[in-house]
Formats: sequence, C-alpha cells, structure tokens
Amino acid sequence: MLPREFLDTITAKFSANNVFTDAVDCYAYAYDNSRRISPPEMVIFPLDVKQIQLVMQLCNQYRVPVTPRGRGTGTAGGSLPERGGVALSLERMCGFHMDAANRVMVSEPGVLNQQIQDEARRHGFFWPPDPSSAAYCTVGGNLATSAGGPHAVKYGTTRDHVLGLTAVTGAGEIIKTGCYTTKGVVGYDLTRLIIGSEGTLAVISECTLKLTPLPSAISGIVAHYRDAESCADAIIRIMSQPHTPSALEFLDRGSLNLIRTRNPHVVPSDATTLLMIEIDGSESEISTAQNAILSACKNSGCLGATIVPDIDSLWIARKTLSPLLKDIAPKKINEDIVVPVSRLPELLANLSRLATKYEVANVNFGHAGNGNIHVNLLIDPDDKDQLRRGELCLNEIFDLVISLNGTLSGEHGIGSEKRAYIGKEIDDATITLMKSIKRVFDPENILNPGKLFPN
Ligand SMILES: Cc1cc2nc3c(=O)[nH]c(=O)nc-3n(C[C@H](O)[C@H](O)[C@H](O)COP(=O)(O)OP(=O)(O)OC[C@H]3O[C@@H](n4cnc5c(N)ncnc54)[C@H](O)[C@@H]3O)c2cc1C
Repeated sequence: MLPREFLDTITAKFSANNVFTDAVDCYAYAYDNSRRISPPEMVIFPLDVKQIQLVMQLCNQYRVPVTPRGRGTGTAGGSLPERGGVALSLERMCGFHMDAANRVMVSEPGVLNQQIQDEARRHGFFWPPDPSSAAYCTVGGNLATSAGGPHAVKYGTTRDHVLGLTAVTGAGEIIKTGCYTTKGVVGYDLTRLIIGSEGTLAVISECTLKLTPLPSAISGIVAHYRDAESCADAIIRIMSQPHTPSALEFLDRGSLNLIRTRNPHVVPSDATTLLMIEIDGSESEISTAQNAILSACKNSGCLGATIVPDIDSLWIARKTLSPLLKDIAPKKINEDIVVPVSRLPELLANLSRLATKYEVANVNFGHAGNGNIHVNLLIDPDDKDQLRRGELCLNEIFDLVISLNGTLSGEHGIGSEKRAYIGKEIDDATITLMKSIKRVFDPENILNPGKLFPN
C-alpha cells in the first residue's frame, strides 16, 4: 500500500492525466517480454528531468520502490515493478534534435529507436544500435540494457555510441556524465557505468547519441550448409579474415523450418543451417570484402553461397522469428548467451546434446559474428515436468557458456530472469563492489530494487 501522504503529494504535483492509480490502468504496466507479471500501484509519466527528480525525492522520503520503464519490450523482467510502488514511464519524454555538425542526436528517453534512425537518415547518418524491436522500444531502454542488434558485429552496441547523458540517481540527484565531444577524459566514465545498469542506478533523462555516416552501399551473401559444424566452421573462417561483415546472422534447422512455415521459398530447401551476411561500405570496399567473405564461406560442408544484392526479404523473415517462436511456445525460455566466435562449434554441439539429454525442443539463431546466440527452449512452464527439465537444461547451458569463456547475456540484460545465475559469471568480490556502487547511487534501495543480484 502506498502511503496516503505520498499519494496526496503526487496527485497534487502532477496533472491527473500523468498519473494512473486505477488497478486496471496500472495493469498495462505489469508486464514486459519476459514471462512474469507484476503490477505497480501507481504509474507516473514525468515530462521533464525536474519531475523525475521530484518523484525520486518523494519515493526516497516515503521509501516507495520506483521502476523506470520505456516501452516494456525488455525480455529480462527489468521493467517489472516486482515490489509494487511506482512504474515511472518515460514514454512521454519524446523530444530530440539533430546536430549534424557534431554528428550527434540529443534525445529524451521516450523517443523510439526507429524515430532516431529516421531522423538521422535524413542527414546521411544512422545510430548503430539496431534491436529488432527498433520500431517500438525506446532510447532510454536501449541505454539501460546496452541494446545491440545484427550490426553490432561491425559497429558495436549502445555503449559504444553514447557520448554523455543526464540522469537522476536513486538518491534524487541530477547528474551529467560524459561530454558533448567525441574526445574527453575528465573524471570517471559514469556514462558507460549507467549504460547497461538496467535502471538500478539512475533514471536516464537525456542522452547525447553519437551518429555514424550511412554506408554508400550494402550487399549481401546467403550461404547454407549441410550441418551445424560446417556452418560454425564457416563463421570462424569469416571472422578470421580482415573484412568485417556489417551483419553475420546464424539460423539453425529449427529456425529455418519455422521461416518455411510462413515464407516457404525464402530459404533453400536443402539448407539445415544458414548464414545471412551483410556487407557495407563503398562499392569498391564491398567488392573486395565480398570476394574474401564468399571464399571464407565455402568450406566442404557448404551447399551454396551466393551474392544477393537485396537481402531485404531475408531480413524480414529473420525478424519474424521471435514472434513466430512465441506463436508455438508463448512462454518459452529465451536466452542471449555469448561465446568467443572460436568456441561456437563446441557451443552448438553441446546445445544439441543438452536438448536431447533433457528432451527439450530447442531453436537457436542470432548474431554469430559476435558469438551471440539466442537460445530458445520451447517449453510450456504450465507443464511442471517440462519446466523442471527446461530449468535444468538452462542451468547446464549457462555452465557451458562460462566454461567456454563466454557471458550470460549479450544484449538483453539480467533483470529478474537471470539474477539467480549471475554468480556463475561474476565472482563474490566483484559482486560486493557492484552492490557498494548501487548503494552510493541509491542509498535507500528504492530504484528498481531486487534486480540484477540474487535476493
Ligand atoms: C520482438 C523483440 C525483439 C527484440 N530484439 C532485440 C534485439 O535485437 N536486440 C536487443 O538488444 N534487444 C532486443 N529486444 C529487447 C528490448 O527490445 C530491448 O532491451 C530494448 O532496449 C528495451 O527497450 P524498452 O523501451 O522496451 O525498455 P523496457 O523494457 O521498458 O526497460 C528495459 C530496462 O531498462 C530500464 N529503463 C527503461 N528506460 C529507462 C530510463 N529512461 N532510465 C533508466 N532505466 C530505464 C528498465 O527499468 C528496464 O530495466 C527485443 C524485444 C522484442 C520484444
């Protein structure tokens, strides 16, 4: 229950249409793309940094938990108000402006990724973080999760494309981190600390996004293989030569079969695994890179590798995979593990072994150039036995990833879904230091409490 005085103060300070307290309205803010549901007791829509600060100060005063939220597309439960309290929805802070001379876009947190891309494109630029959810996820959410996407293999993730930000800490202080220029070494790099902190340290109220010039041309290669081993070998060969593809996506047998249900002619009928490769640059750079990458694709298990000047239809098919999987297994376990590219053969072989061992249907696809694979365990959690087998399988998958020198999450974050496993990757001393940092930013532990670390 929210304290009466807190409720009265909020309703006095905010206009009625920027605060929800009705349980039905609040329910729309109870879920994200994880399997859990957890309603807030109040939703507040701040319109500027001062309003965010006011909410944070009042939440500190009355010890009310507050959970920042963009558009709730996160898959790790990060935006779920697990302990009730306030869902702080940034979706109405939607201002942004382009500064072409400095190659930056200054954005409020509620702007959609796609809006940034559309505006940047008009000036010949793009912002490299390109999650498949671009059309409906926010820049604030992208920063808080350090989102990535297919182009991260060449361009990196959100952390690599933000110069600075303004935020309100858990303690209610407004801070400015980083700078407006592409060079700057004054003080600690708090920008990179806050990026990826999943709304546990500070609420991002503005950010300076570093833009990249659009490539003058884009081309593609599609290569398919007789088995996963040959495909993994080709990924290693591609990444071992010096021409970096702008995307290198892997689709396994299950993914291809799913795509065939919607688009029967998009993938070759004899393919069991497939690589979608994008190459960008000037025409001459593309021509050189294309030859080198095509040759790297062609190992003994390659059934075909062809240049496709327009790979748009394949991208559409690739982007429909997540929703398609949800159709057949709405409450599937969906992970985004990463291993060094050189360890992909061991990862794929062992994923298949573990799926057989636990009798769990498994579909894998993802950003192979980063070694970032979306592992989907198609279980029905309402079936207790399936859920138990799925969880045992997942536990072993995480052990496998760590043994291969990998990491538990490449782009989705830890949130509540993976916090039980964080100790597999991060040692006690480092977790203790991280918790101390959390206390400095948020001494009353009111900002997204309980996320990231095991309870
Ligand atoms: C179909 C689909 C495809 C996806 N594809 C990708 C992909 O390719 N790559 C990828 O990286 N992700 C992907 N995602 C996951 C998700 O879209 C991203 O994590 C996205 O960045 C979340 O943005 P959001 O606005 O929905 O944030 P939310 O889900 O609302 O929040 C995510 C986290 O950020 C915090 N947060 C949000 N706004 C702020 C703020 N202003 N200040 C501080 N903390 C904040 C929240 O507390 C939470 O911890 C996909 C999701 C879906 C549903």
